Amino acid sequence: MSAAEGSELRFDGRVAIVTGAGHGLGRSHALLLGRRGAKVVVNDLGGALDGTGASSGPAAEVAELIVKNGGEAVASTDDVATPEGAEAIVRTALDAFGRVDVVVNNAGILRDRSFGKMTVEEFDAVIAVHVRGSFLVSRAAFPHMKEQAYGRIVNTSSPAGLFGNFGQANYSTAKMGLVGLTKTLGIEGARANIRANAIAPVAWTRMTETLLPAEFESRFAPERVSPLVAYLAHESCETSGEVFSVGAGRIARVFVAEGPGWRTDDLTAEAIRDNWESVMAEQPHLPTKLGEQAAASLQAML
Ligand code: NAD
Repeated sequence: MSAAEGSELRFDGRVAIVTGAGHGLGRSHALLLGRRGAKVVVNDLGGALDGTGASSGPAAEVAELIVKNGGEAVASTDDVATPEGAEAIVRTALDAFGRVDVVVNNAGILRDRSFGKMTVEEFDAVIAVHVRGSFLVSRAAFPHMKEQAYGRIVNTSSPAGLFGNFGQANYSTAKMGLVGLTKTLGIEGARANIRANAIAPVAWTRMTETLLPAEFESRFAPERVSPLVAYLAHESCETSGEVFSVGAGRIARVFVAEGPGWRTDDLTAEAIRDNWESVMAEQPHLPTKLGEQAAASLQAML
């Protein structure tokens, strides 16, 4: 093992924003980054699980804990889902610490309802916090990262988005939307050394405590997810545009895969019906870029 391999991953001199850091996963991410030397903006609106209400308590408590542990932190209660709130979060980092190196987009809410009963308001509210919030906070930080030619963005997707989940049409749409945002940020950030990745976690928090069996509480502790966030947020991680499922200490890369495909010069609905098994065939090919996926289609024509 080389010295670099054995060394502790530190964030001294780095400034990290963690949204939704008053509870659960975000709290754990913020505490870990703070312990490793990052100056942390602990952002949390402090509302209920469905996003209603607000309180300055949770963000302040986590920021105080980081300081008590010997670190540096400031609290922010701005709303990630509004342009003004997102700008204010980044402004807090710049005013308090002079820069922003890391954005962990973690804030989230739930408004679960079966598809037939879901209201437009329930759909929009969830998209607003997860997708719009991640877009807005990243957008506010992006010019500063570009200027300093350095940045690390970690978005929070979910297995519910990658694979779908009953009662979560709003949430799964949002969480898959974050995969697209992450991949495009990875492409657009590349030249400025801005890396963007997403995690799809499972953890015991107020969001899942009624779904996971009680004996999972310690096994699925948020602290068993945060080390991945720390690695993805670190300068030594060059990976970008990827998604990782993570929970209970296990991490796996999640791929967008394509089957070998089937083509004909006479594409009709009937031909598709008659060759459906070939269309559905597995043996995945793993395009990593749009161009690679398009090339596979062109290749099939030759
Ligand atoms: P949590 O409810 O404990 O944490 C979410 C935090 O976001 C809360 O503290 C809340 O106050 C804050 N928040 C909500 N809306 C906000 C807003 N507009 N602005 C600022 N802060 C806001 O839940 P958690 O499980 O820790 O969730 C963290 C993230 O992980 C979420 O994005 C969630 O969707 C995602 N996630 C969690 C799990 C899991 O198993 N717990 C699984 C998949 C994805």
